[in-house]
Amino acid sequence: MEDVAGLDDLGSSLLEAHWRFDTRMTYNRWFKVWLSFCLVSMCSAMPAEEVWLTRFLTYLTLGYAAATVQICACAVAAVHRLNGFDNPLTPTLKSMLKAISAVGMCGTRSKKFIVDGSFIVAMCSAFLEEYPVFDADRFDPTVSVQSDEGRSIMWLRAVAMILLGLEIGARAGEITRMTVCCWQARDDGSVYVLVHLAKNGKNGELSGAVLVRGEGDFKDNYSAISFFEEFYFPFLRSQGLGLSKKCILSKFRTAVCPACSPMFPVWPHSKSKGESGVKPIAVSQVTSSVKKWATRIGRDASNYSAISFRRGSVSLAAAAKVDRNIRKRHCRWKGEATQDIYTEVSAPEEKVYGLALRKTILKSRAARGKNVKFFDFQT
Ligand SMILES: [Zn+2]
Repeated sequence: MEDVAGLDDLGSSLLEAHWRFDTRMTYNRWFKVWLSFCLVSMCSAMPAEEVWLTRFLTYLTLGYAAATVQICACAVAAVHRLNGFDNPLTPTLKSMLKAISAVGMCGTRSKKFIVDGSFIVAMCSAFLEEYPVFDADRFDPTVSVQSDEGRSIMWLRAVAMILLGLEIGARAGEITRMTVCCWQARDDGSVYVLVHLAKNGKNGELSGAVLVRGEGDFKDNYSAISFFEEFYFPFLRSQGLGLSKKCILSKFRTAVCPACSPMFPVWPHSKSKGESGVKPIAVSQVTSSVKKWATRIGRDASNYSAISFRRGSVSLAAAAKVDRNIRKRHCRWKGEATQDIYTEVSAPEEKVYGLALRKTILKSRAARGKNVKFFDFQT
């Protein structure tokens, strides 16, 4: 078989190629997958035929993330180039690859999607459509409801979790451990949020992130600070939840406070059995909150989980070119191998992250406004 003979040439030329070692390993591995596919399908591996390469990439799309399919296509193209063949990625194939990325088509091994700017915009505007202002009567945990639509508290709490989770890049475990005293308003209008590390946590280590205040009200800025001030804290207060006089934070700055109410409480299902008091939300409920909102704004819930807002946070900040050190500090990252200490960031720097996120979300909102106009015009 000519292709197998070509493999030997390929083996030696790969070693001489000027690819970085890890790139070479990746390309090599993916090219081997293509070869196996060709052997089974009895088609030519090199030069690749468009029809077979299309089938192969379609097949990969069912099981891998869009980025992985791209890498594989690049691997096949690179090995062709190395062997003096024409680029097998025809214009048709290239536009197919573009389409795979654009629609986010991906299979079971793909990573969870991120909560991005347009997710936030869709969620906040859907919420405001239903609840333009806070009205305590509409958020009553003693009223039993039959369906998700009526679960006003679930929607409210989920917006609070997602906004705060995104702005501080929280892990689900960190969301569940939060108490109302973790919210520490500062004189300049910003808020320091104390975060109890769910991972790599050390006793006595102070850790948290800074939220920045957006301009105007929640309807103008979709920010965590505005949402908490206008909707979420009034709701908690209406339920008699808040800071306790026995709060221990002034004495033990990094302890999980047992006296104050949980930031994200859940109510016992049945009142009749004498169950009283709220409990902090569980990780599984953090996940289901993200999924519920994903579904409500027309996205596929299976692509989302609690990690989506942490990953979204980091991705948005990276895309907005926030310095890596600031990202690391803000999201309480540590090197896997080294217990490195974060470099201190200055007071203006600690707001860079929040400002970048705010800008990105407002940009998504402006873009969405344009789409809506266009749609109205069409109909
Ligand atoms: Zn407390």
